[in-house]
Amino acid sequence: MDELVKQARTGFARAFGGVPDGYWAAPGRINVLGEHTDYNGGFVMPYAIPFYTVAAASRSQSPTWQVWSQATGETVTFGTGRVREQLPRSQAVDGWASYVAGVVWALKHMTGEPVGGARIALSSNVPVGAGLSSSAALSMSVLLALCDLYDLDVSDERKVLIAQFAENEYVGAPTGILDQTASLQSRPGSTLFMDCRSQVVEQLPFPLEETGLEMVVVDTRTPHRHSDGDYAERRGDCELAVEHLGVDSLRDVVRGQLLSLPDLLMKRRVRHVLSENRRTLAAAERLRAGERDLRFIGELMLESHVSLATDFEVTVPQLDHTVNAALRGGAWGARMTGGGFGGSVICLVNGDRRDAMCEEITRQASQRGYDEPKFYLAIPSEGAHRLEA
Ligand code: ADP
Ligand code: MG
Repeated sequence: MDELVKQARTGFARAFGGVPDGYWAAPGRINVLGEHTDYNGGFVMPYAIPFYTVAAASRSQSPTWQVWSQATGETVTFGTGRVREQLPRSQAVDGWASYVAGVVWALKHMTGEPVGGARIALSSNVPVGAGLSSSAALSMSVLLALCDLYDLDVSDERKVLIAQFAENEYVGAPTGILDQTASLQSRPGSTLFMDCRSQVVEQLPFPLEETGLEMVVVDTRTPHRHSDGDYAERRGDCELAVEHLGVDSLRDVVRGQLLSLPDLLMKRRVRHVLSENRRTLAAAERLRAGERDLRFIGELMLESHVSLATDFEVTVPQLDHTVNAALRGGAWGARMTGGGFGGSVICLVNGDRRDAMCEEITRQASQRGYDEPKFYLAIPSEGAHRLEA
C-alpha cells in the first residue's frame, strides 16, 4: 500500500501541483461462489483481495473534475456539462475517465447533493480487465474520496448502488452489485455472503490458513468482454425466463417450474441460477456453523464451474483448461471467477502444493499456445477505506 500511496502522491504533485487532502483505497475482489446470481436476486460469496486502487484527492474551487491515472499517464478534465442528469450519451465522458464521471453523475443523481469539483490522482495494482474488478476498485475509491471531501453522509448500501448506477447507466457496463459490495464491505479473514435482493451482507469466517489452504488466482490473460453482448445476452435470457414464469426474479423459482419453460436453453440457464444459489447457500450455512476445514469449498467451486460451462455457457477453453490443469496439479477445486468469457480462475490448494500446481497450469497453457498465466494469492482483505497518510 505504501508504494501505491507514494505513486498517487507523486502523480498528484506532477499532474496538479501540491499535496492532496487525503488518500482513499479500494480493493479488487474474487467471488468464491455465486456467479451470475447477483442480477437474479440471488446469493453471492465474494471477498476483497490485497490489490488496491488508491485515489489521492483534493477539493477544487471550481466545479470541474480533473483525473490523472498512472495506468494511462493521462489527465482528463470535465465540467458540470458532462455530468448533468439527463445527458445524451454523445456528451458523456468516455474511456477510463467515464468511471469517474459516472460516479460524480450518479452521486448527484441519487443523493440530490451538489458534489463539488475535485482533483484526483489514481494508482493501482489491481490487474485490469482480469475479472478481478478493477472497475469497482476505481469507482469505489473515487466515491469514498468525494463523500469525505464534501462531507456527504451516504450509507454503505447506498454507496454500492451509486457505484453500480455509475457503471450501469453512465459507463454502460451492466454489472450487478456484487463487485461494489465486495470492494466496500469486505473484512480481513472473512468472506462476505450477500443476499442480493435484500442487500443484507453477512461476514463469515474464512480461515484458509487453519488447514494450510490457499486460494490462488490465475489470470489467464484472456481479455474478458464484460460490457459486450455475451454478458447482456445472458441477462436477457434470465429476464425472458422471469417473464415466462411470472416471478419477481429467478431466485423465486422452484425446481418443478423448470418444466414449464419453453425450451432447453432457457431451462439450462435457469438451472444454473438455481443450482448456484443452492451451492452458495450451502457453503454459507457450513461457514456460519463454524466449519474450519475449507476443503469442502473446493468441491462446490468445481460444481459451480461445471454449471457455468455447461448450463450457463460463459466459460471459454482457456478457463476450462486452466481448471483442469489446476485439478491435475493438486487443487481441491477450481472455477472461473467474475463474469466469464475470459478473465481469471480461482484455485483452492494446499499451500505446500501451490508451486507444483502453478507449474502445471503454466506448462499446460504453454502447450496450448496460450499467454503465460499470472498468479496472485487471494488473501481475504480489508475493504475500501480512507488511509492515514
Ligand atoms: P475488471 O473490472 O474485471 O478489471 P472491467 O472491464 O470491468 O474489468 O474494467 C476495466 C476498465 O476499468 C479498464 O478498461 C479501465 O477503463 C478502467 N480502469 C480500471 N482501473 C483503472 C485505473 N487504475 N486507471 C484507469 N482506468 C482504470
Ligand atoms: Mg469490472
